[in-house]
Amino acid sequence: MKQNPLDDIVLSPAPVLSKECEPIEKIDSDVKALAKRMLKDMYAADGCGLAAPQVGVSKQLVVIDVDWSGRGSSKNPYVLINPKIITADGEERETGEGCLSFPGITVPVKRPSHVVVQAKNLDGDLMQYEASDNLLAVCLQHEIDHLHGVTMIDHLAPSERVRALADYQAALDAGARPGDVEVED
Ligand code: ZN
Repeated sequence: MKQNPLDDIVLSPAPVLSKECEPIEKIDSDVKALAKRMLKDMYAADGCGLAAPQVGVSKQLVVIDVDWSGRGSSKNPYVLINPKIITADGEERETGEGCLSFPGITVPVKRPSHVVVQAKNLDGDLMQYEASDNLLAVCLQHEIDHLHGVTMIDHLAPSERVRALADYQAALDAGARPGDVEVED
C-alpha cells in the first residue's frame, strides 16, 4: 500500500504537539527507522525541519536540512537526538516562520539570532551545532521547541495568536496541506 508521506504529518491542534517529549535512551533500530521516516516526510513536504511529535511520536528527535531547496538539490540532513540549547543569545531577530503542522500560514516570530545546540547523532556521537543569523539558527530553535510542547504560535502575543489561528482554520478549510506556506485565493 502506498501512503502519501504528507498524511503522516500531524496537524495542530493534535494533543501530541503540546506535550513534553521523552528523551531517547537507546539509539536502536526503531529510532533509526523513525529518523528515516521523518526525513522522507520532511523532504516530501519541502520542509527544512521536522520534530518527532509532528509524526505523532513523543520522543526527543529532530531532523533538519536547511540546504534542501526542493527536488534536484543536494541533501544535507542532520538528525538530532535529545538536542539541548546550550546558548541562545545575540540580538533578537524576527523571521516569518512556517510549520508543517500549521499548513497555509506564516507568522512573525522573534528569537535570539545566535544559538549553540548539543545533540547526539544516529551513531551516538555528541555533536555541537552553532548558527548565527541564518535559517539554521531559526530552525534549530523552532524544532527543539516542538520537543517541549511549544509551537510557533505560542511565541505570538494573544491578539496575534487569535488572528493566526483564524488564518490557519481558513487555510485548512481551503484545503491547505503540510508544506503550503500560503493558500492562493
Ligand atoms: Zn514546526
